[in-house]
Amino acid sequence: MVLAQLGGSISRALQQMSNATIIDEKVLNDCLNEITRALLQADVQFKLVRDMQTNIKKIVNLDDLAAGHNKRKIIQQAIFNELCKILDPGKPSFTPKKGKTSVVMFVGLQGSGKTTTCTKYAYYHQKKGWKPALVCADTFRAGAFDQLKQNATKAKIPFYGSYTESDPVRIAVEGVERFKKENCDLIIVDTSGRHKQEAALFEEMRQVSEATKPDLVIFVMDSSIGQAAFDQAQAFKQSVAVGAVIVTKMDGHAKGGGALSAVAATKSPVIFIGTGEHMDEFEVFDVKPFVSRLLG
Ligand code: GDP
Repeated sequence: MVLAQLGGSISRALQQMSNATIIDEKVLNDCLNEITRALLQADVQFKLVRDMQTNIKKIVNLDDLAAGHNKRKIIQQAIFNELCKILDPGKPSFTPKKGKTSVVMFVGLQGSGKTTTCTKYAYYHQKKGWKPALVCADTFRAGAFDQLKQNATKAKIPFYGSYTESDPVRIAVEGVERFKKENCDLIIVDTSGRHKQEAALFEEMRQVSEATKPDLVIFVMDSSIGQAAFDQAQAFKQSVAVGAVIVTKMDGHAKGGGALSAVAATKSPVIFIGTGEHMDEFEVFDVKPFVSRLLG
């Protein structure tokens, strides 16, 4: 995982700074430049990285720090805080409550791992005693319903979809209504993805969202999309009220930095990460432990 490499590069930069006899402007700049390079290489958006560097320099004013101050610790803390800030939009996402019906709509491009992630999300909650259900409102991709059906059957999760109905809004509404009647507490609506961001896709997302009134819209993003992450996430956010992000394929060779950019673009937190193709390769995402691990 390239995020581990990012962590390695940042730790090395911090270590080099720690090894310096005196921490002066040059040592600090070298360290920050090293970290900047590592973040850019990991596809974190340029503006985010530049802001981070400016903020750290503002916080760590070497002239003001008396000799007795532990400059290393102050710098390390500032870097930790700034990385957390990129990943933490400052407000938690809507959290469904067990026993109370919530509708959660998944959006994202085709191939991002959306359908797989819908099942993982359902399965995760089912293991904790919830009553989830899956609705396949992807009428665009041939085979989408079969895939969801297969996954749902394997996990013993009720599902709804159609081989003949071509209106995604209708299926979404029917599915949500049926599972509300069945007292499911987590109704998950999988939507169409298409290959690229296009007006028709966003219009469809808007209509499905308007008709089903989801309590939460989750944007699913493949961790390998790199610098395109910011724009892609922002485009979805402009059509539907994205409230949380799930980043998939964190097990692969992706650079992962796009995840940080998606948080900034949607002002929504990453709530889970996908770490493999299997149903249980799914982890809750917490900012502070993640950044701690990143910094070694
Ligand atoms: P969708 O088109 O967005 O619904 O994407 P799919 O759910 O069909 O996933 C596309 C491919 O990515 C499939 O081969 C999945 O098995 C794979 N996939 C999804 N999530 C992960 C993940 O976290 N790690 C890995 N390695 N593969 C994943």
